[in-house]
Amino acid sequence: MTHKQVTIGKTDVQTTPLGLGTNAVGGYNLFPNLKDEDGLNLVKAGLNNGIQLLDTAYVYGLGHSEELVGQAMHDFDRHSFTLATKGAQDFSSGEQVINNDPKFLTEQVEASLKRLNTDYLDIYYIHFPDKQTPKAEAVGALQRLREQGKIRAIGLSNFSLDQVKEANADGYVDVVEDEFSLLHRDHEADLMPYLKDHQISFVPYFPLASGLLTGKYDADVSFPADDIRSQISDFQEPRYSQALKAIEAIRPIAKAHNATVAQTVLAWYMQDPLISVVIPGAKRAAQVEANAQSLDVTLSDTEYQTIDTAFAGFKSIESGKSLADPD
Ligand code: NAP
Repeated sequence: MTHKQVTIGKTDVQTTPLGLGTNAVGGYNLFPNLKDEDGLNLVKAGLNNGIQLLDTAYVYGLGHSEELVGQAMHDFDRHSFTLATKGAQDFSSGEQVINNDPKFLTEQVEASLKRLNTDYLDIYYIHFPDKQTPKAEAVGALQRLREQGKIRAIGLSNFSLDQVKEANADGYVDVVEDEFSLLHRDHEADLMPYLKDHQISFVPYFPLASGLLTGKYDADVSFPADDIRSQISDFQEPRYSQALKAIEAIRPIAKAHNATVAQTVLAWYMQDPLISVVIPGAKRAAQVEANAQSLDVTLSDTEYQTIDTAFAGFKSIESGKSLADPD
């Protein structure tokens, strides 16, 4: 089955509205007990099941995610999928410093190309803004790399609306990746409409709220201290109980489509006109295979609205503690 394609920003990069997040592919600094083999298999499962965008970053395993993604994609035609990675973390002083200096970003792109074993990146994101570099200069470095054919689309991640405006002074920005889910809807009011108006694609991260929106959790949940979910406010009260209650509204809709809660949530994002590509992560190939089936779920307007209303309270709830760097 041929799936719908979306276009990234003002470029000719085209991809499916469902991508694959790979922070758990080699991301040993983010999750405990990851196996390289599982990571390789889940990337291949994505590409074999109709997912055409892979989202990685230098900081996921300090290069290891990129290496594994590079290995996994080796069996596939490079032009058949879209490859996105990110950089800005500078460890040269011994600790992590965010660095958007044009020379540093240029070196980072070269290093990512090497680790991914490819000669171009479809999307390169500045992973986090730094405090000192004029934003249009940082983006200007990526524009030079675009002119050299090394990247095809310019992205920003974790930039506020004002920072996006500053970075996009020359109109070079094509895509913004930031946290958004049914539980984190702040950007609906400001960032997302601005992006739509300026033909900049929006890619939400943590779309499954780190697994919570799959509907698989009940009242008792805990994670080890070295798992990033132990820091996430969604898994803490009162948000946790509010989320579990809202998820109940999804279950009958999922059932009517013979779908899972996760597939229904992913379908909802793909029908949101302000969202371009949704990039759920996974720990195992079976999760990716299941998530890929959301490409075949289409919600009615009423079903879309019912879910929207069930989570309306999350448009204004204070997110609480946000995730710390490095992810
Ligand atoms: P997510 O997509 O909200 O949740 C993914 C997690 O949910 C999986 O690791 C898996 O964890 C669980 N899951 C996924 N599919 C499932 C299924 N079908 N059934 C049951 N459980 C399932 O969170 P994320 O992976 O952390 O974020 C998505 C992607 O966004 C990342 O991979 C990364 O590429 C990107 N990201 C970017 C930034 C940034 O700063 N730009 C920040 C964060 C993330 P368990 O099996 O452990 O439950």
